[in-house]
Amino acid sequence: MLLGAHEGIAGGVSTAFARAEEDGAECLQIFTRNARGWAAKPLEAEEVARFRAEAARTAMPVAAHSSYLINAAAPDAEIRRKSWAGLADELARCEQLGIFALVFHPGSNPDEAEGLRLVAEAMAQALDAVPGKALLLTETTAGQGASLGHTFEQLAAIREGIPRALRRRAAVCVDTCHLFAAGYDLTTDEGYAATFDALERTLGLGAVKAFHLNDSKKPLGCRVDRHEHIGEGAMGRSPFRRLVNDARFAAVPAFLETELRYRENLAVLRSLVS
Ligand SMILES: [Zn+2]
Repeated sequence: MLLGAHEGIAGGVSTAFARAEEDGAECLQIFTRNARGWAAKPLEAEEVARFRAEAARTAMPVAAHSSYLINAAAPDAEIRRKSWAGLADELARCEQLGIFALVFHPGSNPDEAEGLRLVAEAMAQALDAVPGKALLLTETTAGQGASLGHTFEQLAAIREGIPRALRRRAAVCVDTCHLFAAGYDLTTDEGYAATFDALERTLGLGAVKAFHLNDSKKPLGCRVDRHEHIGEGAMGRSPFRRLVNDARFAAVPAFLETELRYRENLAVLRSLVS
């Protein structure tokens, strides 16, 4: 497992690499635009060049996280239109920057089947509109309200809804806090094994292209998304000890999203490697 964090982009996307280095990270995740607004200025050619130079200098894999406004499953046609356009635009920015994957939350819709179908259609449309190498990763969610993606079955249904020719660029990002909040218990050997057996049966372990490593402030199955520093929440250190030593994920980039104390959290994770 490559260990990194979600880094800030104040001063331009290229500045995130120096922050990642400062934190002792081996990989990083960024926003490629303002995460809380719809409007985004196109990337300037010089900033793209600086970003690519930094990526080459540091050799760190980079993922992007989409804007929080995107709800590809939205029942409201106008929000959905903006979301689908936003998803394709963000994927295009990843392609421009050479970012390997765009992570997004599938979104919410009280009609589960309809919501899953809409997410698959949004992904197909974005992948078709933006040819290239960048992957689109649906993230496992805590399952708050009507949000989709809190079971592996839902993520598999989304993936299967994408035409076969485009599906090779569709994969998943596993967030440990969200898994736990959704009811997947990683705190015991049996729970950990059962979780990844279930993932293997539904999506295949090869579909996991990134991890978000966060502890959870809230208990198992609470369906609430509140990140906590590694080992200081309801999950404790054992799930992370299992993950960082799991040979099946040795080459997969993993990002902290605790917002603060990255250096310290990375040190905790590294102390668990045996
Ligand atoms: Zn996450």
